[in-house]
Amino acid sequence: MSKNKTYHPDTLAVRGGLSRSQFDETSEALYLTSGYVYSSAQEAADSFSGDLDRFVYSRYGNPTVTMLQERMALLEGAESCRMTASGMAAVFATMASLLKSGDRVVASRALFGACHAILTQILPQWGIETELVDGTDMTAWEDALSRPAQMVFVETPSNPLLELVDLELVTALAHQAGALMVVDNVFATPLGQKPIEYGVDLVVYSATKHIDGHGRVLGGAILGKSELVDEKIFKFMCRTGPSLSPFNAWVLLKSLESLSLRVDRMVANADHVARHITQHCPDITIRYPWLESHPQYALARKQMRHGGNIIAMELPGGQAACFRFLDSLNIIDISNNLGDAKSLICHPFTTTHSNLDEKDRALLGIRDGHIRLSVGLEHADDLIDDIMTGYAAINS
Ligand SMILES: *Cc1c(COP(=O)(O)O)cnc(C)c1O
Repeated sequence: MSKNKTYHPDTLAVRGGLSRSQFDETSEALYLTSGYVYSSAQEAADSFSGDLDRFVYSRYGNPTVTMLQERMALLEGAESCRMTASGMAAVFATMASLLKSGDRVVASRALFGACHAILTQILPQWGIETELVDGTDMTAWEDALSRPAQMVFVETPSNPLLELVDLELVTALAHQAGALMVVDNVFATPLGQKPIEYGVDLVVYSATKHIDGHGRVLGGAILGKSELVDEKIFKFMCRTGPSLSPFNAWVLLKSLESLSLRVDRMVANADHVARHITQHCPDITIRYPWLESHPQYALARKQMRHGGNIIAMELPGGQAACFRFLDSLNIIDISNNLGDAKSLICHPFTTTHSNLDEKDRALLGIRDGHIRLSVGLEHADDLIDDIMTGYAAINS
């Protein structure tokens, strides 16, 4: 690729960061090595003093991981990327490296369970004040950010009820309050939402989801300006070791080649399924960002480039109806993962969100009639047939 041209995301996802060895292999090489050797004692000394820029140990860097980081940065439109061993390692390294005792973090309340636990349990133990707000309520954001803060953390669309945070307005408020704006962009994928275009400082991913997309490996990514990602976060990572394995990096490099094909198809399937349920299952309340019935439809059209592949539904009849629905399915698997080639469904109340106390679940609006569907790559008609089987079972 030429450094002077701009390429489309599809091209970047296939070719970005590719660095071939002296063997001219077609496919990205897997450098499954923990360490590196030096031709002389002096070369080793120069590598450690920083006079020589080369790989010294795979906790700091590895050629396969570097290819993936460059590809991810190009795809996101970010200056820099550092990959981590999981999505949670990305979230935690970002917070732990940039925050200190006495700081204040404001976050949207509707968060992935482990992110919620870091904010409500771990950071407060270290003297960091955290405040959770209703991410859809601009007055709540204005109130919370009328006092200084060091970080704002949001997930949009959120898990599991697909609430949106207005990236443009909240980023502006965060910056006025002196805070860095951090976005967990997992549900939208790097193709469906570009937080950096709204001035967001850092974007984090669980690469375990759509980026792998085949249910194989865990991974995470942190993207943004080099002065944050390389100077602050990476220095913390070098010492604390949440590094991505080169094997997983290689799997993720190969996955990225088909990311846009897969996401396009999943989104088309999800749109089809969501419209079918709307038309044929009148007593199911459905939420999908690009359905006109979504309470933040206009915002979804503005800041998202697609509606995503996750659908939230509320069934009449609560937990018993949900269990009957899930247990009657023949294709869609019951699983708490998402973004997979296989369609996956879960009952958040008794699984992903069962650790929350009753008050938090009520604040989030998660009830025992909710189910979350991650639409995969099967044929849409077969998925619809499976869902209609589940629907028939509710009342049986
Ligand atoms: C899965 C997920 C995470 C955590 O990622 P892991 O790879 O499981 O550690 C964080 N945020 C969101 C929105 C997720 O879906």
